[in-house]
Amino acid sequence: MRRTMVAGNWKMHGTRASVAELLQGLRNMALPGGVDVAVFPPSLFINQVIDGLQGKSIATGAQNSAVQAEQGALTGEVSPAQLADAGCSLVLVGHSERRLMGETDEMLISKFKAAQACGVKPVLCIGETLAEREAGKTLEVVGHQLGSVIEALGVEAFVNAVIAYEPVWAIGTGLTATPQQAQDVHAAIRAQLAAKNAEVALNAQLLYGGSVKAANAAELFGMPDIDGGLIGGASLNADEFGAIIRAAGN
Ligand code: PEP
Repeated sequence: MRRTMVAGNWKMHGTRASVAELLQGLRNMALPGGVDVAVFPPSLFINQVIDGLQGKSIATGAQNSAVQAEQGALTGEVSPAQLADAGCSLVLVGHSERRLMGETDEMLISKFKAAQACGVKPVLCIGETLAEREAGKTLEVVGHQLGSVIEALGVEAFVNAVIAYEPVWAIGTGLTATPQQAQDVHAAIRAQLAAKNAEVALNAQLLYGGSVKAANAAELFGMPDIDGGLIGGASLNADEFGAIIRAAGN
């Protein structure tokens, strides 16, 4: 039986004071059983978050990591070995906002591999733009994004990874894929994994991301191939994030 996951991507938001306030809300939250909860703060706040969540079953992840595992001469980067040392167990790989900054398939494959080598679980983000959806290319685009990682690292790499389907047109726009639109893509992702390894496909956690909020979470999470969500804006509010987590627990 797959566990559900609800993860909050804080993006480039927060100050020490606002993070402290959010942590207070997270610490006070009653968490349902069977739901993996994680937050992805800006790297500057990772230590503060790990300290603040001591003893709470909420994992801390990073929003990005370097293409190589070990430390070295890569100014401005953080290596997955450093993330692991800090206590991070997850890292986002290939978020569309980073792809827009020029992150290529080749780079994110290196990041995915380096993270796994350090015991940091990658959350691979894939999704189509509005133009691609309107051109009927959604499954082709998402299939290619996933396929390039499968081709490079093998489908077994997804035994220890999470996949987040995030249609670019739904991220931060207030537009959400309908539960059926999201389910259709999730089913295609699972089928693509299953074509290589049925067991990997069955156990893979597939998250939906794109303007998830308390009001639409239950319907999305109720779809058979949606195993939770990657939440942006709504994860910055502890009450709203808590309501989304509860929706995943039902
Ligand atoms: C995200 O950035 O991963 C995301 C899903 O953002 P939002 O929920 O704000 O659309």
